[in-house]
Amino acid sequence: MKPIHLLPAGEAVRLAELDGLAAGLARVFRVSCHVREDLLDIGFAFDAARNQYYSTAILEALMAVSAGVRVLGVTAADLYVPVLTFVFGEAQLSGDVALVSLHRLRERFYGLPARAELEQERLLKEALHELGHTFGLRHCRDWRCVMSSSHDISRIDAKGAEFCPACRARIQDAE
Ligand SMILES: [Zn+2]
Ligand SMILES: [Zn+2]
Repeated sequence: MKPIHLLPAGEAVRLAELDGLAAGLARVFRVSCHVREDLLDIGFAFDAARNQYYSTAILEALMAVSAGVRVLGVTAADLYVPVLTFVFGEAQLSGDVALVSLHRLRERFYGLPARAELEQERLLKEALHELGHTFGLRHCRDWRCVMSSSHDISRIDAKGAEFCPACRARIQDAE
């Protein structure tokens, strides 16, 4: 399995969160995960009318820096694709790049006080989900599986931070 590189993108994410995420991903995928020291500028993907960043354009930029590794972009910026109000993240199906946003994983976004542990757990789930797509996984019907689809934060909180046995087997085959 290719190593996973975490690449901070645009609006800064706390280093402790990136380190925590790398440790969580390494544990689940059993592969080396490395937080990169460079930073991807995502200014080109900003849509002033929406005050959001175009997720698919950022994925394309990530492809340019993914030689030999899987790259997960991590941003605090709010992401969108044209047909949706927002996305928590996006990935290239059976590809090498994925992207996650902390913006709507923060309790603050919902007008609530910060909860670092909960937000870290949400970040891990969202990252596992998007990286799962890079292994060719589609959405899973098991609501407990991290590959179940989540369009709101309560669904992310309801599911587990792991793959169901069927999804896990497909990741092992995809190696
Ligand atoms: Zn998905
Ligand atoms: Zn599953």
